[in-house]
Amino acid sequence: MSEIAMATAEETWVYSFGGGSADGEASMKNLLGGKGANLAEMAKLGLPVPPGFTISTAVCTAFYELDRKYPDTLAPQVETALAKLEANAGKTFGDPENPLLVSVRSGARASMPGMMDTVLNLGLNEETVKGLAAKAGERFAYDSYRRFIQMYGNVVLGLKHDTFEHILDDYKEREEYDLDTEMTAEDWKEIIVQYKQAVQDALGKPFPEDPKDQLWGAISAVFGSWMNDRAIVYRRLNDIPHEWGTAVTVQSMVFGNMGETSATGVAFTRDPSTGENIFYGEFLINAQGEDVVAGIRTPAPISKARAEALSSEEQSLEEAMPEVFKQLVGVAETLEKHYRDMQDLEFTVEESKLYMLQTRTGKRTAAAALKLAVDMVDEGLISEEEAVLRLEPAQLDQLLHPTIAEDAVRDVLVQALPASPGAAVGEVVFNSDEAAALAERGVDVILVRIETSPEDIHGMHAARAIVTARGGMTSHAAVVARGMGRPCVCGAGAMHVDETAGVFRVAGREVNKGDIITVDGASGEVLMGAVKMRQPDLSGDFARLMTWADRARTLKVRTNAETPADTRTAVEFGAEGIGLCRTEHMFFDAERIPVVRSMILAESETGRRAALDKLLPFQREDFAEIFRIMGERPCTIRLLDPPLHEFLPHTDEDMAAVAASSGVDIDILKRRAGELHESNPMLGHRGCRLGITYPEIYEMQARAIFEAAVQVAGETGKGVVPEVMIPLVATHKELQILKQVVDNTARAVFAETGTTLDYLVGTMIELPRAALQAGEIAQSAAFFSFGTNDLTQTTLGISRDDAGRFLKAYEDLGIYEKDPFVTLDQSGVGELVRLAAERGRATRSDIKLGICGEHGGDPASVAFCHESGLEYVSCSPYRVPIARLAAAHAALKSG
Ligand code: PEP
Ligand code: MG
Repeated sequence: MSEIAMATAEETWVYSFGGGSADGEASMKNLLGGKGANLAEMAKLGLPVPPGFTISTAVCTAFYELDRKYPDTLAPQVETALAKLEANAGKTFGDPENPLLVSVRSGARASMPGMMDTVLNLGLNEETVKGLAAKAGERFAYDSYRRFIQMYGNVVLGLKHDTFEHILDDYKEREEYDLDTEMTAEDWKEIIVQYKQAVQDALGKPFPEDPKDQLWGAISAVFGSWMNDRAIVYRRLNDIPHEWGTAVTVQSMVFGNMGETSATGVAFTRDPSTGENIFYGEFLINAQGEDVVAGIRTPAPISKARAEALSSEEQSLEEAMPEVFKQLVGVAETLEKHYRDMQDLEFTVEESKLYMLQTRTGKRTAAAALKLAVDMVDEGLISEEEAVLRLEPAQLDQLLHPTIAEDAVRDVLVQALPASPGAAVGEVVFNSDEAAALAERGVDVILVRIETSPEDIHGMHAARAIVTARGGMTSHAAVVARGMGRPCVCGAGAMHVDETAGVFRVAGREVNKGDIITVDGASGEVLMGAVKMRQPDLSGDFARLMTWADRARTLKVRTNAETPADTRTAVEFGAEGIGLCRTEHMFFDAERIPVVRSMILAESETGRRAALDKLLPFQREDFAEIFRIMGERPCTIRLLDPPLHEFLPHTDEDMAAVAASSGVDIDILKRRAGELHESNPMLGHRGCRLGITYPEIYEMQARAIFEAAVQVAGETGKGVVPEVMIPLVATHKELQILKQVVDNTARAVFAETGTTLDYLVGTMIELPRAALQAGEIAQSAAFFSFGTNDLTQTTLGISRDDAGRFLKAYEDLGIYEKDPFVTLDQSGVGELVRLAAERGRATRSDIKLGICGEHGGDPASVAFCHESGLEYVSCSPYRVPIARLAAAHAALKSG
């Protein structure tokens, strides 16, 4: 191969941007990371972006493949890009007169706020600091230098943050200073000496002076941070594959901390909490980028309107720098139109000149996502289909849950920033490990912290809501809480939080660990006690978006419900039928359980029939009520499924009580309970096996169904469509026998009432054998409903009740990608579903196929069901809208 051919074959690792042009663009997110791709795009749009270059995610992948080494061709490409950057910036790296300083940042395909490392002010050393001092003043230059040593020492060299904090604290104490602002240039010089000594002491070698060594150190640290623990946890929680890798962006520094004409801030093109079309954001005068998001100083609102809305006394950017504000609003408008979505912007003002440091699609609450999507359709910016895709199905959950009731009594402890909406009640905890431990035990907790950091991710995830004393609307706590859908109140400065003692004090009151509080993320209030909640509003924007979703989807959505209350809720949420009405719960009613027990304890069929005759009217009314609510929508009713021993008393005490009240001899009761005891109830005498051995039970249930259907059809004059479902079938013969029982009962009821109506008999496919036998079973089944709860247990050999002991470890080790009881395991259970669907259809082309396991409400599993050509999914009432939206996404994404 000639040299030229080799050169063209060489992979491009580095992409430059700046000076009105760029090698990359927004569509190259996978390669350049979100930040790098969007910086390139902004540069191309002619927006004021400091020049720089991005080292691609492919380098990250290669770095780990080569055991933390770089491809040979990387270094020369970085050299070239650096030269270009120097030319664009008009400064030179390491130049003592006019030094180029850079930031080095991570940037993955998906945003991972605060998870990976960043280094600012890189390029400073004993020589270049003088150049900076000449230009920007001594104090500023030496403050920047010590910040750099601190950040680099921590992020790249691995020294503890505290090491530097202690040096500074001791120094300030000795000099009797309260604030950093009291430190002079001479003080910072002294601090720098001490910082460098600390590095020398810890590492046995000096702090690097050569800017190029510094640069390579920082690049490696960023790539290395892809595999740090908190980034790994974040990716697991957010379904980000480890293979994606991060890019590294090296960019010319601009300084927001060069005095009163400099500033730094974060803005959103619309309100990310509510979706309202207002310019939203905050900023700090004379501060460096990280100060805003770190939450150490509480920033000021960006506009006059925001300042008024928040009753802030701080001067807004609009007032402090009107020209810059105007330019920023213009940039925001350009970017929102260009990307056709709400943008999250980072900017810096250096001596009255605006620079854009980042733009990305803004994270938003579910409420905001909904409003934004609907508004943007009305504004003609996006189509209805795009609007549907803008709302994540899982996010919808936030809109379906309660907020604080308007008429609730509010005992307000403190009013602070409404950082993430929704309301929650829980016990106060002050540290993340404890929050996680308590939540594991089912306790609702509210995490209260002075401020949060990426180390708190697991605690924030476990908590129902988060409260912080420090930080603004774009602090770590606020951004992460909004992403996770947790209510959050930030910047509650009036609150004195003592994390160690487990107490916070506010307005003369004391709240201890374990006390119950309520957090209202919409108003920013923290309230004492458990406050009354309000049900969600399903009209307006929600209803419009769901209409668009319904138009887009082909998969139907039914519900699993057996009580009238659940059934009504599900209909309100848009359920198009019942996919699973479990009948066993109806047997536990206080009035009925004694009759159920006498049925079980009867020694003969006659005795059982006598008891069943008493149960019949109850069951009939149960079904009639459900048919009335469901109208002409189809209702799948499953005949009795659990083993009979579940209905008998278990303890000696309960046995004695039942014996006394039923008049059955206690010894008989005990003997019968002993006979019915199952060593493995999940695999025992249950489902259709009960129907085969006690056909009179199924007969009674079928009679109740048909009598109720005839009755309600008569009342309403409309068709009622019962679908009778036989559980736990493994062979065709089982279904054949039980279908006969159901058909005979139907015939008898129709003859007695002089009416007929359409009905179906079908089965659940919830055993691997049933899936394999689906071709034969379909001869007698008008429908299959995949019972993926049992199918997961029996295919994977995992008991759902005991899975908690090891599933987390399995997920952590990557043995399972996700909890198989939540998301269909595609190379096991999913394969059986596909196979059974295929075999069932081969026998009966019009067989109805649906799913009624918990997976029916999981967006990824809904997509799988869509792709497998099922007719419907069925899920719990609260998940019906999620399934509707997920089905729409699946349809829109598949074409
Ligand atoms: C199933 O097994 O998936 C199912 C829906 O039935 P149950 O959860 O009642 O066993
Ligand atoms: Mg089951």
